[in-house]
Amino acid sequence: MRRKVIAGNWKMNNDLSQSKDLITKLINGLSGQQIHCDVIICPPFTSLSEAATLVKDTTVKLGAQNMYFEENGAFTGEISASMLKSAGCEYVILGHSERRTIFGESDELINKKIKKALQSGLKPIFCVGETLQEREAEITSKIIERQVVEGLKEISATDLNNIILAYEPVWAIGTGKTATPAQAEEVHLFIRNLIAKIYTKNAAEKLVIQYGGSVKADNAAELLSQKDIDGALVGGACLKADSFMAIIKSV
Ligand code: PEP
Repeated sequence: MRRKVIAGNWKMNNDLSQSKDLITKLINGLSGQQIHCDVIICPPFTSLSEAATLVKDTTVKLGAQNMYFEENGAFTGEISASMLKSAGCEYVILGHSERRTIFGESDELINKKIKKALQSGLKPIFCVGETLQEREAEITSKIIERQVVEGLKEISATDLNNIILAYEPVWAIGTGKTATPAQAEEVHLFIRNLIAKIYTKNAAEKLVIQYGGSVKADNAAELLSQKDIDGALVGGACLKADSFMAIIKSV
């Protein structure tokens, strides 16, 4: 039985005091509650150290939104895996569609980042997803297969245990359009079968595959009830403690 994982991707939102406020509300709201999933928050880099202090000894885990694959050096503006570790992160989102489209990240670069994160003891939340154009051209499975195969190149079955995969159709991110539970389940099952082909059936059964794309309190339960949907990567709805907690409670 896979444990569900709800992760909040804050994106470029919340300065330090807003971050402290949101985390405090979340921790207070969750304390004493029966939570049936893992909860991860991914604030901006500038709030990570403070967030690590606030979530210590709570059920909330900490992740970052990106990193670079080099250890250190002349890479102005970049952040390394060991910096994230030392700031208290356990997870890092990699391959998000905004990184792929706005910042031109390739499958090859994402694969390097995933490898470096794993070597450094960080758990990647590895995102894949097709654009609207690709869905309409009926090449969704081809695109997802390429992203999964290239992103996981040379990654062992043991390391796969430390990866969460997130299926995020690009057309559903921040648009208010959610994939129907059936549309999402179809791709999740496709990914699980692909993982079984690349690795083993057992590895595929163990892999947590989150859905992301306009997940909200009122659509979370139905999406999360699908057999191969093991959680959610939440953008907009994680920026308010109440709406994020409602998604967590819907598990
Ligand atoms: C995301 O950024 O990963 C995301 C799914 O955003 P939203 O929930 O706002 O669509």
